[in-house]
Amino acid sequence: SFEAAAGPVPIRPEIAALAAYRPGGAAPGPDAVKLSSNENPFPPLPSVAEAIAESAAHLPLYPDNAAAQLTTEVANWLDVSAEHLSFGAGSVSVLMHLLNAISGPGDEIVFPWRSFEAYPLAVNVPGATPVQIPLLTDGRHDLEAMCAAVTERTRAVLVCTPNNPTGPCVTHEELTDLLAQLPERTMLVVDEAYIEFATDPEAARPLELLDDPRIAVLRTFSKAWGLAGFRIGYGITHPTLAAAIRTVTPPFSVSVPAQAAALATLAAREKLLAQVEKTIAERDRMVGRMRGLGFDVPDSQGNFVWLPAADQTDRWAAHFADHGLIVRAYAPDGIRITVSTPEINDRVLDAAAGLR
Ligand code: PMP
Repeated sequence: SFEAAAGPVPIRPEIAALAAYRPGGAAPGPDAVKLSSNENPFPPLPSVAEAIAESAAHLPLYPDNAAAQLTTEVANWLDVSAEHLSFGAGSVSVLMHLLNAISGPGDEIVFPWRSFEAYPLAVNVPGATPVQIPLLTDGRHDLEAMCAAVTERTRAVLVCTPNNPTGPCVTHEELTDLLAQLPERTMLVVDEAYIEFATDPEAARPLELLDDPRIAVLRTFSKAWGLAGFRIGYGITHPTLAAAIRTVTPPFSVSVPAQAAALATLAAREKLLAQVEKTIAERDRMVGRMRGLGFDVPDSQGNFVWLPAADQTDRWAAHFADHGLIVRAYAPDGIRITVSTPEINDRVLDAAAGLR
């Protein structure tokens, strides 16, 4: 039953009640460094920039709606068949289309909290009910509580591994246990936006579970691959769900230059993975140093570190801003800081030392 909110325009009440997505941090001043959106610190590779420039010749025409070449290349890379894949304007779009395809009013979606800020939005847009399950104190998912929250109305359980903003991965054993306990028609959506940075040997490997139609994996070119500005992400799901996602995705969502950039990125993946290795080494250095300074930093498997700050969150974020460092404050829980170049990371560590 649809009843519009009061006001001049008939907005659905669950949409009128929502806060819009809050993009990362304050606008950086001329010398400030933005460390609030987990972006890649490296400049684009020349081969990627050239592919984008060359794609300009095709701009008067719509892109390939099926992203056929990209689909083939990603399928080969991941060793999955093409029918499992769907692409969108960032993995957040793929998530929204996925939830639009499987849920509506009266349905419930279980997810961890704190986690990616777009989850509550993505759940509310189709009119489903968010069921947020608090993380454990060490920043991991409380999978037991998530599982216990599943009812016959639960359409999907979302898992974020590595978890943004706290850092730990869900283990493979945890994921397979969860899957085994879910009802036959409850999806297990695994958000792997940061998976390329994960080094935990126990980390979940959901692609190995793709034979189960309930498994849906979300990945992105925004983080490790440095294409956040282009908005390109993808889902790896059962073919029936992939087809449904394609149906609800607005036509031509992945632009001509975005497809060209993603193809050039895949062609250069050895070089880009070497950059990822550098970020991983810097992340581990930062976690070690932050712990040495007495911060209770959880295991980080992404390209960011989490400082639990409780009621000091806003004060600490202001302290970093005073040092020209724009971090992401999640009051009243803590601060997330993107791992950057060694020089910038040193500035972060110096500023952090000033909090002690
Ligand atoms: N999932 C997680 C956990 C994220 O942190 C982000 C980006 N902050 C996304 C998905 C979305 O990434 P994109 O839409 O750029 O692919």
